[in-house]
Amino acid sequence: MTQAQRIDGNALSQQIRADVARRAAALTARGHQPGLAVILVGEDPASQVYVRNKVKACQDNGLKSVFEKYDSALTENELLARINALNADPSIHGILVQMPLPKHINPHRVIEAIVTHKDVDGYSTLSAGELMTGLPGFRPCTPYGCMKLIESTGLDLRGKHAVVIGRSNTVGKPMALLLLQANATVTICHSATPDIAHHTRQADVVVAAVGRRNTLTADMIKPGAVVIDVGINRDDEGKLCGDVDYAGVSQVASAITPVPGGVGPMTITMLLVNTIEAAERGAG
Ligand code: NAP
Repeated sequence: MTQAQRIDGNALSQQIRADVARRAAALTARGHQPGLAVILVGEDPASQVYVRNKVKACQDNGLKSVFEKYDSALTENELLARINALNADPSIHGILVQMPLPKHINPHRVIEAIVTHKDVDGYSTLSAGELMTGLPGFRPCTPYGCMKLIESTGLDLRGKHAVVIGRSNTVGKPMALLLLQANATVTICHSATPDIAHHTRQADVVVAAVGRRNTLTADMIKPGAVVIDVGINRDDEGKLCGDVDYAGVSQVASAITPVPGGVGPMTITMLLVNTIEAAERGAG
């Protein structure tokens, strides 16, 4: 088997962002500049980096970004009041509250407060229900980006066997539903699955979304499989790595995403796509 194709999330991101910028310019010319509100509560260092990257991505692609930063003393009622104001603001098409929130704020109540047509993270119960029932709506950005990465390999998912490792509400479960919607046969593995390799060895596509390095190794996959690595971990030298043993698996797979440079850039890109779609719907 030859070395797998490296699925370049940065390159695909750039292509999609060029389309986002074109659509943003067209909306702006009609007086409907797309607007994303990003709310950060507290001082979590990783969240500050994520938020900065999201705001910058908006600015670079012609979207308006409104960044609201509050210290961790903000009460839940004050946050809900801000969300209600943004729900009613016609210049804002998407609202994102960066997680995690301080412990005294209930994240579910906050997510549910965002009106569904501005829920560009796709995390609310209504958005999850739309995905579940196949209705149009916002898909969570990371699994949505994974679907675009799989699509970019040219693989037709119809009738293929896809295995998702991980079942979080934000990645694993919506990933499985999107694969199902694309007519794959889907297996979900998790921490209570006794023999994950038994499942992954039968898979045409494996998506690893666990948060533990070396969860997927070369002996666990079928030759020619497409492998998507969502995980973000550190190796012994402190370098960023995914859930997949990239060096080993790329000897057996047909295509694989690297970490960094695979799923990561696509997550923010799909947030921009969702915001543009929200603005286009708003503009009729
Ligand atoms: P999460 O909420 O912690 O979920 C992890 C999932 O992995 C859970 O369903 C858990 O199973 C399962 N799991 C844990 N240990 C396992 C094991 N030994 N074998 C099989 N399954 C196991 O994490 P998440 O938010 O889904 O994120 C997963 C990873 O993706 C993390 O590394 C995160 O940083 C990364 N991530 C990356 C991006 C990006 O943009 N690149 C975006 C989001 C997340 P149980 O349900 O049974 O506990």
